[in-house]
Amino acid sequence: MQILDGKAVSLAVKTAVRDEIAKEGIAPCLAVILVGNDPASRVYVNNKKKACAFCGIRSLEFTLPENTAQEELLGLIDDLNRDETVNGILCQLPVPKQISEKEVIARINPKKDVDCFHNENVGRLWTGSFRLKPCTPAGVMALLDHYGIDPDGKHCVVIGRSNIVGKPMAALMLERNATVTVCHSRTRNLKEICLQADIIVSAVGKARFLTADMVPEGAVVLDVGISRLPDGTLCGDADFDKVKEKAAWLTPVPGGCGPMTIAVLMQNTLTAYRIQTGAVGK
Ligand code: NAD
Repeated sequence: MQILDGKAVSLAVKTAVRDEIAKEGIAPCLAVILVGNDPASRVYVNNKKKACAFCGIRSLEFTLPENTAQEELLGLIDDLNRDETVNGILCQLPVPKQISEKEVIARINPKKDVDCFHNENVGRLWTGSFRLKPCTPAGVMALLDHYGIDPDGKHCVVIGRSNIVGKPMAALMLERNATVTVCHSRTRNLKEICLQADIIVSAVGKARFLTADMVPEGAVVLDVGISRLPDGTLCGDADFDKVKEKAAWLTPVPGGCGPMTIAVLMQNTLTAYRIQTGAVGK
């Protein structure tokens, strides 16, 4: 088994973004909004800010209290939409219960939607005319590309159908000519379907859900899931120590798909800057 090293590939991607920004002498800016005190969200936001600093992207953080009213958050998004010095806007999900995730996503100017969650960008994704990329799925594709694994004609089984991971993952795999099966909590015979896969992307969020008996010999396994074990350590969907005996390629958790997500976010912020400055088609 060979490791798909997300930490190393993400560094290469971020370095390329940093070099382009330095060469052109530009200063893209990402605004990150965090509502509430979710500790995992805090870690994600900190990691995104760190990556911005590395790349030479200016980052602005807006931290709002847990009880923030939806109108207040939407007002902040309106301000950031209008601010020409802000190129990317990201509201860290999940948001507290009184706020509708849908409304938040819909309010962000699609040209500044660096998460690629806005309906306009999702539509562009499915019709193949996208510039901003869904971060986690595009990170998976970048990992495969780095190691020369071409999905063309392969059977890719995606486990999970969320708007953030599963569905856009299927779109990117289709775009690259994979045959795609999307599985989810109501899928019957998940194991049998997985055993027909060349590539498995697991985005369930249950520790050690993907057991070795579900993985065909020689498969490529991309483990997007992140769970925290009772002892505080992070764990993916794959039962790593056993799956590694079957898979040809496997991502570790941490250090696999997670860092790639942030690397694509940096690429998207640079792309958003270019869309807004007219360097790429609007
Ligand atoms: P989600 O809860 O929205 O979706 C989980 C999916 O798993 C659902 O579509 C559900 O149908 C499916 N599922 C649940 N039980 C199942 C079962 N028994 N059999 C088959 N499918 C089943 O979660 P999400 O936002 O898509 O995230 C999934 C995981 O990926 C989480 O652990 C999350 O933390 C992680 N994640 C990681 C990154 C990253 O950067 N690496 C980014 C986003 C999400």
